[in-house]
Amino acid sequence: MKLFKKTKKEETKGTKALNELIRVLGKEKVLSAIEDRICYSYDSTKQKALPDIVIRPDDTSDISNTLKIANKYEIPVYARGAGTGLSGGAVPLMGGIVFDLKSMNKIIEICPEDFVATVEPGVVTKDLQDEVAKHGLLYPPDPSSAAFSTIGGNVAECAGGITGLKYGVTRDYVLALEIVLPDGSVINTGRKTLRSVTGYDLTRLFIGSEGTLGIFTKITVKLIPDPERIDTLAAFFSDRDDAIDAADLIIDNNILPRTLEFMDQMSINAVRGYGEVTIDEDVKALLLIDIDGTEESIRHELSVVENACKEKKALRTKVAETSKERDALWAVRRIISPALYNVATHKINEDICVPRSKIKEMLQKVDQINEHHTVYIANFGHIGDGNIHVNIMYKDDPGQEELAESIVNKIMEEVIASGGTISGEHGIGNKKSQFLELEISPQVFAIMKRFKNFFDPKGIMNPGKMFVT
Ligand SMILES: Cc1cc2nc3c(=O)[nH]c(=O)nc-3n(C[C@H](O)[C@H](O)[C@H](O)COP(=O)(O)OP(=O)(O)OC[C@H]3O[C@@H](n4cnc5c(N)ncnc54)[C@H](O)[C@@H]3O)c2cc1C
Repeated sequence: MKLFKKTKKEETKGTKALNELIRVLGKEKVLSAIEDRICYSYDSTKQKALPDIVIRPDDTSDISNTLKIANKYEIPVYARGAGTGLSGGAVPLMGGIVFDLKSMNKIIEICPEDFVATVEPGVVTKDLQDEVAKHGLLYPPDPSSAAFSTIGGNVAECAGGITGLKYGVTRDYVLALEIVLPDGSVINTGRKTLRSVTGYDLTRLFIGSEGTLGIFTKITVKLIPDPERIDTLAAFFSDRDDAIDAADLIIDNNILPRTLEFMDQMSINAVRGYGEVTIDEDVKALLLIDIDGTEESIRHELSVVENACKEKKALRTKVAETSKERDALWAVRRIISPALYNVATHKINEDICVPRSKIKEMLQKVDQINEHHTVYIANFGHIGDGNIHVNIMYKDDPGQEELAESIVNKIMEEVIASGGTISGEHGIGNKKSQFLELEISPQVFAIMKRFKNFFDPKGIMNPGKMFVT
């Protein structure tokens, strides 16, 4: 539904809603000029759709009042954090109202004695991490977008990131939520305690709901003690399978590294020579490993990790001696996304996750699917969790886009056949909604839709996302 552009009736409805919003919220919080709206028309998928109104709320009551009006006029509503989503979640596909939640960015409280913090949804993840670190505490979920994505967006997507193997993902740290439902009512789920088993776990239902069920206005998260130090080791391999075997052996030796990141040959080729990165020509795969703990525990774990890499035929290993060296090793991983555009102009970034024991086989299947090398495929990611970013790169030539999409379809079928999931961390949005029923049985799909209809009977919350049917 387009608010002002389709029918006369909708235009009248849209104008009435706009006037009511200005009257209730005040005109400084209600933006409708084209130059404002354009800024909220896209996310990191590069899809574009223009909202009709942007609301910059100050607090829960602004969101509640807006939703009451949107619900009355049945106007689509979209929550937006930083717009870094990779599945289209924040794109206002059907026009309507976008909430710019970055304006609600207060860290409400940090309780070091209880190991909890409560924040507004627009707090940038790294800002929370930095603040709790001042109390010797860690908020572990660490998506690579932590420096710019918001906690609200992280909860809505159940963001993962590089520390998942040892510390889990966003879901494992959210204790309680304040949520505004589509009719404007406000509910609180969970408690600010490290445990609570009272009633159904509605908090978990809302985590990963991608803005389709309600809008988080306060988020209480669990914190843990910040490890004393972190050391980084890079291991370079001439063979992809050796790197995968080394990752397995590290875990078989009872070591859970803070990060266990993998890059294949195409990813390495892309970053080689990009900026200041240099990687020797004989390197065809690499592991980037962070170990955290005390000096003593790290010394022990590093030696186990180094031995495992050598046993699995690493060409070389390198332990960073200084923070500068550590940054240089991590730069290799950090720049992959932009560097991949050196390979081809277009990228489809999939975030499949398979049981770890199936990674080698899965990557072989990806090779087979692309056996004629008609597109470029770079694989990298959180190998310890089985979460691999499969990036299908293609050029502008005729037929390339269709080819890339058919390759994605085949990869998704193989992922499901191997017991994996179509999204390990980026969510479904509209980009992956056509694959949802590959993974989810008709019964479960129907239950999910019943939840959606229960919370959002008028279908105003983020329409066009998650469900295509
Ligand atoms: C360079 C780069 C690296 C990335 N690395 C990772 C990674 O390592 N791991 C990972 O998991 N993701 C990663 N992402 C994806 C993205 O950063 C995450 O999905 C992140 O959680 C999105 O946060 P955001 O604030 O940008 O949300 P947005 O993109 O603004 O929104 C995402 C979804 O959340 C909903 N939403 C936002 N705020 C709220 C709220 N308060 N209440 C209800 N719904 C809300 C929106 O409606 C939308 O559906 C990366 C993205 C980029 C560009």
